[in-house]
Amino acid sequence: MQRVFSGIQPSGIPTLGNYLGAIRNWVPMMDDHECVYCVVDLHAITQAFDHRELARATREMAAALIACGVDPDRCTLFVQSHVHAHTRLAWIFNCVARIGWLNRMTQFKDKAGKDRENAGSGLYVYPNLMAADIHAYHATRVPVGEDQKQHLELANDIAQKFNHDFGVEFFPNIEPMIQGVAARVMSLRDGTKKMSKSDPSDQSRINLTDDADAIALKIRRAKTDPEPLPAELAGLEARPEARNLVGILAAVTNATPAEVLRDHAGKGFGAFKEVLTEALVAHLSPIQAEMTRLLADPAAVDAALRKGADRASAIAEPIVTKAEEIVGFLPRR
Ligand code: ATP
Ligand code: MG
Repeated sequence: MQRVFSGIQPSGIPTLGNYLGAIRNWVPMMDDHECVYCVVDLHAITQAFDHRELARATREMAAALIACGVDPDRCTLFVQSHVHAHTRLAWIFNCVARIGWLNRMTQFKDKAGKDRENAGSGLYVYPNLMAADIHAYHATRVPVGEDQKQHLELANDIAQKFNHDFGVEFFPNIEPMIQGVAARVMSLRDGTKKMSKSDPSDQSRINLTDDADAIALKIRRAKTDPEPLPAELAGLEARPEARNLVGILAAVTNATPAEVLRDHAGKGFGAFKEVLTEALVAHLSPIQAEMTRLLADPAAVDAALRKGADRASAIAEPIVTKAEEIVGFLPRR
């Protein structure tokens, strides 16, 4: 059985983008893969964060994942900082990855913004830690949203260079699994920017915890254009906001964008947004109810994460110890 690894940062409440682009795809993979899923708190401190909120946000992210169908009894679900193998391998990868490779990463450029000199060095080496997250488990498949494609290519470059430099075939090639019409859900305020949980504007995203009124308001305010919906997909070209809303409805109703257009061609956005709101509320309310139920017993969530961390360590510890041996560190005996 192939091993899968994927992670999500506790950098805010999970968005519809996280759900449709990543989390939703994690669930069916548990049927035929050995799945390792991680709340990546080490990544979450690479940008501004509130240290008084991080632990709670981490637990809430875990509860959100479980509420979306990620079953801690059928996968390994844990918190990144609980398993030290990640940082040990990340250090080795810091020394393997070339600065020129990191300089090409668009996420760093986007997140660091104009004041690049003032960005944390952790943000710069973020992709090396992400490569370590995956390779510490010898995972070969990684379900992520489209925005992570470049980081996965880098993770393969790092593994190849490690294997080449040390004359081993130790780290396998990984295959990104970027799936579905919603692999890149865009901001509700700007159809050319991806939806992000860390975007300063709450109006730019649907949070998984938004209630019916919040969803209705955000969708009503979502940027669109004055044209009615076209009958064909070609009519959505150069209309990023319209394409995004059509894609979201397709994803939550398990239809294709072409089917959505067939059903709604000629409609204006006023009417279309009502349909979309209703579909989103129907889809998200059971997840919200389950999340509330889980968070009523935080100790139970923490206990599940503790068990997950033990299972994760049992896989990663021998792999990373072997990597250290390959590098030539004197074994601690
Ligand atoms: P941040 O703004 O803090 O980076 P994020 O919303 O980008 O948060 P991450 O924790 O970085 O979320 O990513 C978790 C997963 O969600 C990744 O697999 C990522 O590819 C996916 N993802 C993030 N945003 C989107 C989006 N807009 N559409 C589809 N998938 C997404
Ligand atoms: Mg992100």
